[in-house]
Amino acid sequence: MAIEHNYLRTRVRLSHIVANYQRLRGLGGHVLAVVKADAYGHGLVETAAALDGVGCDAFAIGSVAEGAALRDAGSRAAIISLLGPVLPEDDALALEKDVVPFVHDFGQLDRLAGVAAKAGKKARVALKFDTGMARLGFAEDDVPRLLARLAGLPSIEPVMVSSHLATADDPTAFDYVSTQGGRFARICQALRHGGLAFEASLCNSAGILAHAGDFGFDARRAGIALYGVNPFAGTDQEHLGQGLLPAMETVTRIVSVHDLPRGASISYGRTFIAERDMRVAIVAAGYADAYSRGLSNKGFMCLSGRRVPILGRVCMQLTAVDVSGLDPAPGDPIHLLGGDGPGAVSADDLALWWDTIPYEVFCLFGLNPREYV
Ligand SMILES: *Cc1c(COP(=O)(O)O)cnc(C)c1O
Repeated sequence: MAIEHNYLRTRVRLSHIVANYQRLRGLGGHVLAVVKADAYGHGLVETAAALDGVGCDAFAIGSVAEGAALRDAGSRAAIISLLGPVLPEDDALALEKDVVPFVHDFGQLDRLAGVAAKAGKKARVALKFDTGMARLGFAEDDVPRLLARLAGLPSIEPVMVSSHLATADDPTAFDYVSTQGGRFARICQALRHGGLAFEASLCNSAGILAHAGDFGFDARRAGIALYGVNPFAGTDQEHLGQGLLPAMETVTRIVSVHDLPRGASISYGRTFIAERDMRVAIVAAGYADAYSRGLSNKGFMCLSGRRVPILGRVCMQLTAVDVSGLDPAPGDPIHLLGGDGPGAVSADDLALWWDTIPYEVFCLFGLNPREYV
């Protein structure tokens, strides 16, 4: 949460996150709950506590400092930093808080080893490999040099070896998953042959749902599916993630209701002109509340179970919707995300209208004041 003093309330249903976790765990392997970025906007501490309550023993967070925050909140689970150490102070913090950082290059290894040796501790790390994302990680060709370097760094203890899939949620690109999976399997085999013992981890949510049979390895990193999004929605593999339960909804209030006569315009720039007499509601939500201006003339809200279209431009703290045929009053609640019945707005719906992905919808709506139900 970071946006204060507005009327939006982002409601999080922790029991749905727990149910989604249990379902993913039922597919086998060691499931790490990915709670980076404030648990995709659902709240780091609250989400981790709910999952801890059903036996989740490992969490993946973003920065080392985010891991330290989870540790300081009392978690005794394994905490893995997916970003790893970025600044020098991250090394000591990871050691102090028992956060296992992803390590993607030799410089990071040397620095961590130095800090750990000085403290008389062992630094447990997760070695990150690039198998086709071309973002961060050691290359397959680095394995011999890496084994040699680790042999000379007794203060480093690799406990996990990991890589990330670029196309796990795209049924037309499953061959690329196989390429990455094959490369990762070779890397893990070579590292084990070199004497290392570790958990191997490749799959994200889509990987768990679609590829765990071939490439499940030991540990799996579940993010978006925990929060109830089907990574295959709208594809011919939709069945793989059917029935996951959305955990977030965002509600705000109607400020005013008035008539808009035929021919009149509404909001900045006069981008909407009424083609008939209308009844409009002015809603307390705008781009300052992370309700994207990209939804202007495009998106819908859900009022009493019905979809109501956005009229004209989304403003900083206000947005107009067409409520013709309905009779809301000032103060009435209206859903930006979620809602009852067939008019409910899903994260996929919002992402489509606003040309993004549900991940971004959650991260942004999660900046608003949250409530837990
Ligand atoms: C965010 C992230 C995940 C989780 O991905 P989802 O698609 O949300 O399941 C897994 N692994 C890494 C390295 C990540 O950064």
